[in-house]
Amino acid sequence: MAGVVVIGGGAGGDAAALTLRQRGCTLPITLVSEERTLPCERPLLSKDLMRGERTEQQVGIRPPDAYERAGVDVRLGVRCVGIDPERRVAHMEDGDDLPYEWLVLATGSTARRLPGLPDAANLHTLRSLADAVALRRELHDGARLLVVGAGFLGCEVAASARIAGCRVTLCDVADGPMLAAIGPVAAAAFARLHAEHGVDVRMATGVEEWEVLDSRVTAARLTDGASIAVDAVLVAVGAEPNLALPRQLGLAIDSGGVAVDDRLGAGTGIVCVGDIAAVPYALYERRLRVEHWQTAQRHGEHAAGTIARASSESFTELPWFWSDQYEFQLTQAGSCDGADDVVVRGDEQSSRFSVVYLRRGRVVACIGVNDGVTVRRARRLISDAVEVRGAALADPASDIRALAATA
Ligand SMILES: Cc1cc2nc3c(=O)[nH]c(=O)nc-3n(C[C@H](O)[C@H](O)[C@H](O)COP(=O)(O)OP(=O)(O)OC[C@H]3O[C@@H](n4cnc5c(N)ncnc54)[C@H](O)[C@@H]3O)c2cc1C
Repeated sequence: MAGVVVIGGGAGGDAAALTLRQRGCTLPITLVSEERTLPCERPLLSKDLMRGERTEQQVGIRPPDAYERAGVDVRLGVRCVGIDPERRVAHMEDGDDLPYEWLVLATGSTARRLPGLPDAANLHTLRSLADAVALRRELHDGARLLVVGAGFLGCEVAASARIAGCRVTLCDVADGPMLAAIGPVAAAAFARLHAEHGVDVRMATGVEEWEVLDSRVTAARLTDGASIAVDAVLVAVGAEPNLALPRQLGLAIDSGGVAVDDRLGAGTGIVCVGDIAAVPYALYERRLRVEHWQTAQRHGEHAAGTIARASSESFTELPWFWSDQYEFQLTQAGSCDGADDVVVRGDEQSSRFSVVYLRRGRVVACIGVNDGVTVRRARRLISDAVEVRGAALADPASDIRALAATA
């Protein structure tokens, strides 16, 4: 009997499959994942697991028997290689054909690689649990780790590796860590933080040449002229959404992802969730493709509602993100893209402040450094698209919620 076939065992696919059952869906549900391990909490991979505070057995989204108990047939190590939308059949690499009434595409992203990277056993990217376990094995006390790419992932691993006792160099061609995502004020705070924790922070710097001996990188020559001896390398230069199946299906691609409708639908019997979905946001007057854990989970839950016909509501939840590095927690609500004004609340040299992004006088995003309270309160300002006055906003003693109420 044709049921629901979910392609992808990440945050979005897992949430879709399990929420469907919680909503009383009685159709057969199959969750197909190319990975050989059950869905795991990827955010734990660069943090708790990398710091050695959790083992690979302790990062699952759910207890291993949760899927069987929910009646979800999980197929691990299986790749979906094609879809026949006329016959409503998903083709697996192992020759299996899975008929579907509903198809959930939740194929996520793949770690990007740089051109000219050597094929070396100690050069890593990080996406899966297997990647994380392989990298973690190299992070022994005193190991020299070069992290190429100071985005969220690179910064988190740099912090975790320092805590694990490694000597860490962090380089990026951009002028500051996580600069494109969080802007120069917060980026400067994180550059200081990493330097204070003993990371050799080299911004506006890339890798010019690799030295390889016996299939291992031994050193990297950087564009600033330095030569860095290494025991391990992490290349963390972003991720590419896995769009092969949507492209094969002829689904419209926009803003870097599948152009879904406001209920995450992408054609008859097909929904798309997580990193691959470019969702229309009336608030931002455009589509947003978000690479965040909580957004992928919420997409999965929302898609389950769409399938179970329990909900015909639009997906409007604001992007929300967090990152833990040493004693700093970064939180972000909303999207900074297109902002035309920035207001800093508090002392940006301190360990607690927030940055509010505005567009045409309305708050569109808020980033907090150890200030999750302000970020949570700002969500209302963002989703209600309220106009606020800069002077009051800049005062960290003011309650940001009151600005929404009185504006
Ligand atoms: C190490 C790490 C740390 C992170 N930390 C944070 C954080 O702190 N906060 C935050 O908000 N976000 C974080 N993220 C991002 C977040 O994890 C992703 O945005 C989220 O996992 C996306 O979920 P998804 O379901 O779209 O895809 P994914 O989680 O990428 O899952 C996609 C799954 O689909 C499978 N797949 C792909 N193609 C096929 C196919 N053809 N057939 C079968 N299976 C297929 C893949 O193997 C994978 O299992 C982190 C990501 C990583 C890698």
